[in-house]
This record gives sequence, structure tokens and C-alpha cells, in this order.
Amino acid sequence: MTLPPIEVLPRDLSPYRAGNVGVDYVHRFVADQPGPHVLINALTHGNEFCGMFAACDLLDRGIRPRTGTLTVSFANVAAYESFDVERPFESRQITHNLNRIWSAQWLDGPEESVELRRARDMREIVAEADHILDIHSTAQDVAPFWVYPGHPRNVAVARALPKPLIHLVMPDGMSSGTPLIEYGPHGRANGPGAAVVLECGQHFRRASVDLAIAVTQDFLRYFGLIQREPGQESGQEREQSLSSGGQGEHRAFEMLTTHVIKTAEFSFVRPLVGFEVFAKGELIAVDGSEEIRSPCDDCTIFMPTRLPIVGREGVYLTRPLI
Ligand SMILES: [Zn+2]
Repeated sequence: MTLPPIEVLPRDLSPYRAGNVGVDYVHRFVADQPGPHVLINALTHGNEFCGMFAACDLLDRGIRPRTGTLTVSFANVAAYESFDVERPFESRQITHNLNRIWSAQWLDGPEESVELRRARDMREIVAEADHILDIHSTAQDVAPFWVYPGHPRNVAVARALPKPLIHLVMPDGMSSGTPLIEYGPHGRANGPGAAVVLECGQHFRRASVDLAIAVTQDFLRYFGLIQREPGQESGQEREQSLSSGGQGEHRAFEMLTTHVIKTAEFSFVRPLVGFEVFAKGELIAVDGSEEIRSPCDDCTIFMPTRLPIVGREGVYLTRPLI
């Protein structure tokens, strides 16, 4: 399988290993003025470099919150450090998907792995934040989008920010596990604040890095941690302007199912990258003897796997929200 262009490469994160909260690769800055606690989390998946660059941008520039608390974390540095430019898709994780193990079943369970140890080390960091931006990227070269449970607190933030304009809403969470943004209090209906995933585009694109840096700034600005540029609207002002007529053309999709690959014979009916639309009953993929068919008209797929691996996610089926 041909490899995509690699426009960005990992950088040495050892200068940021020693944090200031007793957990490696976690840095926290507290303003004199009280305010919300925002967590910017990068590298939940080891080869998703855009979040790493956005987090480094904050640390390199010495950004400090004017109100509240800013925590910056690099999650799966072990997987990140395994990156090999000849096999760029293999450093997503060492053993477990770090974005599916944020449940008591895994965190309090008997198994051990790099990812379980890291999640156990980081669980208080995640629980303590009011708002979380968890920055990811996609294997396929597609438009950026948000992913979040459909709590009003998440919708409000994602709709208020200028980009991205595509939203994947999970009404019932992920059937394949518990993501970081649903850990502990963040998974509850009355959670403390917004907790959203940002998918910035293809892993190795410079444009994905640029988007991650820009949205990180927007997110921090929305919660008042950093100052807006002269002439820029605050998040709340923008929210009001959107609800009173709107400027952006948001497109939202509702997650229906996540197909976890069961056999080595999993394959799509044709090459898919994401956002392809299927009619009700249309065949999307086969997995051994199982047929994966569209459950509805206008079924739109997200995150088709690039290389099927048994036990990992093959494709998300969604439908457009009106
Ligand atoms: Zn990811």
C-alpha cells in the first residue's frame, strides 16, 4: 500500500518530559485570577502529530493563562517515540487504544500495558479539568471534524468556534470502549464542562498542524484563558451571532454504529476515505461472512480503516442530522 506524503516529522519531546504536577509530560499553569481549568491533550494516538505541535506551541511560547488553569499534556509518548517513517501508521499505540480504556473496567482491572499504565497515571489529570480539547488526526486525507457526545455543553462550544464546521455527535458514546473525553465526571449528563475530540485532517499533513494550533487558540480564547486579538469576537458573542442568523455552515452527523473488525478478510466494497454516502441496504464492507450494510438512507461513513486489523475499528456508520 502506498504511503502518503510525510510533511511533518516528530520532534524530541524530552525537554517536556519533566512536568510540574508529578506526572511526566504534563504541565500546569495557574493564573492569579480564578477561572475555568482547560486541558489541552495531545498524542492520545502516537502518530497523530498535530496535537503535539499545538501543545509544543503553547509550551515553546510560554503561554500562560490570564484566568483559570491551563494544563498541557502529551498522552502516549511511548507510542510516539516508536515512530518509523517507513511504517508511519504503526505507532498509533503499543498495545491498547489509549482512547478506549477510560472505564473502571480497564483502569481498575488486572491487565497491564503501556497505555493502561499511562491512563492510570493520567486519570486524575483528566478528571480535574473542567474542559478538555483532545487533539487527533485521521489516517485518510479528509476534512477536519469534531467528535463529541451530544451533551449541550459540548455542542455549544463546538458550534461557537469558527472551525471545523463538521460535527460527529455520539448520542450513545462509543460502543467499542470509553474515550478519554468521557472519563469519570466528563461522561456524566451533568459533567463539569465541554470535552471534545478535534480531528484535524491527515496525520502527516502540515495543514493538520496549522488547524490544531488555530483551534487550540480558539478553544483557550473561548474560555477566556488567553486574550482575543483586537477586533475578535469572544466565544459567547460568536455563539449569539450564530444563533441569530449564523455565519458558518455547520454539518452534523449522528454516530449509529462502530464496526469492530472480526476477521482478517474484512474489506470494503471499494476504496473509501470517509464521507462517502450509502443508500439504505447498500453493501459497505464484508467481514468474513458478515455483510456490513447501510442501515438507512444517506448513511455517511467516517474513519474507514486504512489497513484492517482484527479487533480494531473498521468504520463508523453515521446519518446526517437535520
Ligand atoms: Zn486519534
